[in-house]
Amino acid sequence: MEPSERVRKRLAVAGVVQGVGFRPFVYQLAARHGLAGWVLNDAEGVKIEVEGPWEAINRFVHDLQTELPPLARIADLAQSFVPSSGETSFIIRESRAGAERSALISPDTNVCADCLKELFDPADRRFRYPFINCTNCGPRYTIVTDVPYDRPNTTMKDFPMCAACSREYHDPADRRFHAQPVACPACGPAVQLQDPAGRPLDAPDLIREAAARLKRGEILAIKGLGGFHLACDATNEEAVRELRRRKRREEKPFAVMSNDIETVMQYAEAGEAERELLLSFRRPIVLLRKREPERLAPSVAPRNRSYGVMLPCTPIQHLLLAEGFTALVMTSANVSDEPLCISNTEAIERLRGIADAFLVHNRDICARSDDSIARVMAGRERLLRRARGYVPLPIALKRDGPKVLAVGAELKGAICLTKGRNAFLGQHLGDLKNAQALDFFEETVAHLRRILEIEPEIVAHDLHPDYFSTRYALELTGLPLVGVQHHHAHIAAVLAEHGEEGPVLGLALDGTGFGTDGTIWGGEFLIADLRDFRRVGHLAPMPLPGGDAAIAEPWRTAVAYLHAAFGPEWANLDIPFVKRMEMGRARVVIQMIERRVNTPFTTSTGRLFDAVASLLGICDRNTHEGQAPMELEAAAAEDVMSALPQEIRRENGVFLLDPRSYIHSAVERLRDNVPAETISAEFHNGLCNGVIETCERIREAENISSVALSGGVFQNKLLFERTVRELERKDFRVLTYQLVPPNDGCIALGQAAVARARASG
Ligand code: ZN
Ligand code: ZN
Ligand code: FE
Repeated sequence: MEPSERVRKRLAVAGVVQGVGFRPFVYQLAARHGLAGWVLNDAEGVKIEVEGPWEAINRFVHDLQTELPPLARIADLAQSFVPSSGETSFIIRESRAGAERSALISPDTNVCADCLKELFDPADRRFRYPFINCTNCGPRYTIVTDVPYDRPNTTMKDFPMCAACSREYHDPADRRFHAQPVACPACGPAVQLQDPAGRPLDAPDLIREAAARLKRGEILAIKGLGGFHLACDATNEEAVRELRRRKRREEKPFAVMSNDIETVMQYAEAGEAERELLLSFRRPIVLLRKREPERLAPSVAPRNRSYGVMLPCTPIQHLLLAEGFTALVMTSANVSDEPLCISNTEAIERLRGIADAFLVHNRDICARSDDSIARVMAGRERLLRRARGYVPLPIALKRDGPKVLAVGAELKGAICLTKGRNAFLGQHLGDLKNAQALDFFEETVAHLRRILEIEPEIVAHDLHPDYFSTRYALELTGLPLVGVQHHHAHIAAVLAEHGEEGPVLGLALDGTGFGTDGTIWGGEFLIADLRDFRRVGHLAPMPLPGGDAAIAEPWRTAVAYLHAAFGPEWANLDIPFVKRMEMGRARVVIQMIERRVNTPFTTSTGRLFDAVASLLGICDRNTHEGQAPMELEAAAAEDVMSALPQEIRRENGVFLLDPRSYIHSAVERLRDNVPAETISAEFHNGLCNGVIETCERIREAENISSVALSGGVFQNKLLFERTVRELERKDFRVLTYQLVPPNDGCIALGQAAVARARASG
């Protein structure tokens, strides 16, 4: 073909291409290359036809892929030649509604640089307007009520555009062209400041008034993208302590927000990767190491070496933080473990005894969504909680398959829906243990099914009969069910994230999950592919007297593990743990074990951390999930090379890593008056050595050298980084989690991947 020969090409673009400024981008690109034709949104994404010199069309197709708008993502681009029509201009055509829509909706994002400039420009008509946005930024997932993504299908439907906004919205050359949430002070939503009775408080500038109240030490409920935050001045110890008291959250660390990186660096350390994450338009909470001495109020993150830090994301937050705070506490507005509030009336009702004032607005939140949490480990971003900014972007699966609804586990609930080669992992739902959380679960299933238009063909669930999610799945009638073992799902999630199918040696270290033998698993070495697994190793089973009671009170687990390691003689050990123990209460625990009353056996790694944390005097009670393990990690001294010795044996072809050897040696170290900080580090090292040696022995026996790591225990940076490093040093190929959390937030993805693999016969 001659470079100048006139041709016409048809392009079908799939991916995140709607509501992200894609059509104006195409329009401008076509103009730049002098091409005629059209662009339109339809059910599958964006269709383009371009006509002009062959060479110019090639350049257009190249630039289309390399110069994408910031929020756009092309998943698939199909091209074909079509007959020339002789058109001479390029136009944006009306959207086409379709039977099946597969265009992807973007996550909610931070205010872009252009909008930020206008927000603080006194000459701009949106100066200090708290709902400024454009095609490159603003709310998306949380305001979408239905598809296609158009204003009537968002919670902006109640705000008809004024003439000026409408002009911007309809002008292909404008950066607000088809920005569905576009608004201004004349036509859009507005903020309100209210007292706890819901009465409006008046002030010339409500956000400045809110800032002034925060500076006086008040606690404010502030409406964000996916729910409310409770805020107070993070440098005011009295205010932070009062917030803890009112929120009944004694010890869980609070997240904080600062205006910029420079301010963050005053109280926390952030390397290149951390800074990039903080600044990303997804705006997750990033775990950063505290600077010594501590600069924020001690009650922000007690007994923790890190702060959870984020930068402002919404215009309200940008305006508020610009009022000169070192940091604000910004914690999810919920009462103990209920899901966060989203409606104004709900917030005022539920937070009445907590907040002194409410900074609200009248743009509704459709989908509840928490802040995401990330930590940089082994040099990369690792998501610990996947929600705002990440949902609903899909995880690309290796193959096509049936539509699956996977309902996840119970703690750190999340659901997953699949369609084509995409797996949509929904936002973090919290612990599915109270009525509000269950409503949130059902709300999210309905919302995701609606906006993704997925009619599930298969339902996948955990094997635990008492999980709410399992019961929910079993009550759905008429659909085939696939039960997936918990730790198999953990490993399948890692495989799915990497687009692999196994087999691998799956290393699932977590709290608890229902095993196929009816006991509680949680320290598992599985040879697994997507379809099935074989348990080739695990921690030796230990008694867990009282089940859930022991999970809440690690001292019980410590007593049980001491008893398992030393027998009745444990009560005579000359260590601080025994001295401070009330023997009456300990005896009740021992009796439960001896009489086998409500004492399941567990191979859980989380419980071993609990036992060691309590034994070392670091934490006797979990006021929130994972507290004892987290505090044990935080306590570990750095640069300790010694390790508690491991003990591995093989029984009936299965490798057993025995927790009692760690308990024995920890007691010896305590008797030698070694500090708890050192023993904690030695425990981490010893457990890591035990895990590595078990992997090596399995490699020898089973001839498998790819290892996949999952389970909540791998949120532990010390253990995670050392395990990855040592496995790689021993020539294992290591698959790790990145954008899917290692905790039970990944279970739904794993379940979906397994259900798909099994359905493919
Ligand atoms: Zn913008
Ligand atoms: Zn307007
Ligand atoms: Fe788990």
